[in-house]
Amino acid sequence: MQKPPRSGAPLKPETRLVAAGRAYSEHGMVNPAVYRASTILYPTVEALTERRQQYTYGRRGTPSSRAIEDAVAELEGGFRAKMLPSGLAAATSVLLAFLKPGDQLLMVDTVYHPVREFCDGMLKRLGVETVYYAPGIGGNISGMIGEHTRMVYCESPGSQTMEVQDVPAIAAAAKAKGVLTAIDNTWSAGHFFKPFAAGCDISIQAATKYIVGHSDAMLGAVTVSEEHWPAYRHAYEQMGLFAGPDDNFLALRGLHTLAVRLDRHQQNALAVAAWLRDRPEVEAVLYPALPGAAGHDLWKRDFTGASGLFSVTLRPASDRAVAAMLDGLALFGMGFSWGGFESLVVPFRPHRTVAPFPHAGPALRFHIGLEHPGDLIADLDAGFARLKAAA
Ligand SMILES: *Cc1c(COP(=O)(O)O)cnc(C)c1O
Repeated sequence: MQKPPRSGAPLKPETRLVAAGRAYSEHGMVNPAVYRASTILYPTVEALTERRQQYTYGRRGTPSSRAIEDAVAELEGGFRAKMLPSGLAAATSVLLAFLKPGDQLLMVDTVYHPVREFCDGMLKRLGVETVYYAPGIGGNISGMIGEHTRMVYCESPGSQTMEVQDVPAIAAAAKAKGVLTAIDNTWSAGHFFKPFAAGCDISIQAATKYIVGHSDAMLGAVTVSEEHWPAYRHAYEQMGLFAGPDDNFLALRGLHTLAVRLDRHQQNALAVAAWLRDRPEVEAVLYPALPGAAGHDLWKRDFTGASGLFSVTLRPASDRAVAAMLDGLALFGMGFSWGGFESLVVPFRPHRTVAPFPHAGPALRFHIGLEHPGDLIADLDAGFARLKAAA
């Protein structure tokens, strides 16, 4: 067991991340053990009949799952958390836990696309109506809240096009009408944006991204306020959800270095984004942390930092020229997901229905990793030369 924190000034987030979840370690080990468990034994018939012990069955929690759940709740500033097998499962479990036939869901138009598919498919089949709203709506969400609206779902910034939402205004408008606010907080990793302080009731993360941080596990996290915890926990247990102990261990291991990794992702991303902004091939850099970029003021008001994920749009170029640029990159992998130590790039076309994307040229999403930014810039510089040669 770890010593309790000394009394006095509240500990800073970095300090808390180092300590988080370690109350479950034993025998003087720095880290809690990985408990691989299905059956948990009871000493007597009476103890079994009354389930009179802390751990009762593998799916219902072990020291390994409790450690990361406590740590994530601490990171997000919420009451309690549960871990799930993927970020998508985290998002869909929240929708299934709180919505019922006849309810309406207000969903941000820039939501992670597989969540949109779930809303338009399974939720629709279950009799839940999804109405999409523009990410910049702010407090005007109030005008869309009707008799059957049960939840407003945010994702800020949107993980492709990077619109920052006025989450405090949305959450206040929702609360005034007795409506829940849920947010996909993956971009900030819970370190740079505190959703419960902003008025949200539920925070969702693809822990696959920055919490795990090394591109070697899939995991989701749901953190809930005290008021709504019993309802979420009940649904989570009814659905039989549970994340495996080894993945939970990797998440806790990643979480201890989250603050220092994010600071470096931010520093590198700012260097690469500023260089891209000055390139003649680039039309717009969509990175709220960059002064002058869309959403910068809102980001500065509500976030304490930025992660390494941003997008750019290029001036018109053929698909062939863009492919020539990307195919030859040595340090940027091409693939989905992000949040690991390595740099990535993917071309994308945003799918949305109410808020048209105002850029016509090719769009690229970058994840800036922990490489030296000078090396990344040199790689991109050679890429732009290939783009030009292929034009
Ligand atoms: C990746 C991602 C998810 C889904 O997470 P998985 O672990 O891949 O299922 C959800 N939301 C956002 C913003 C993401 O980037």
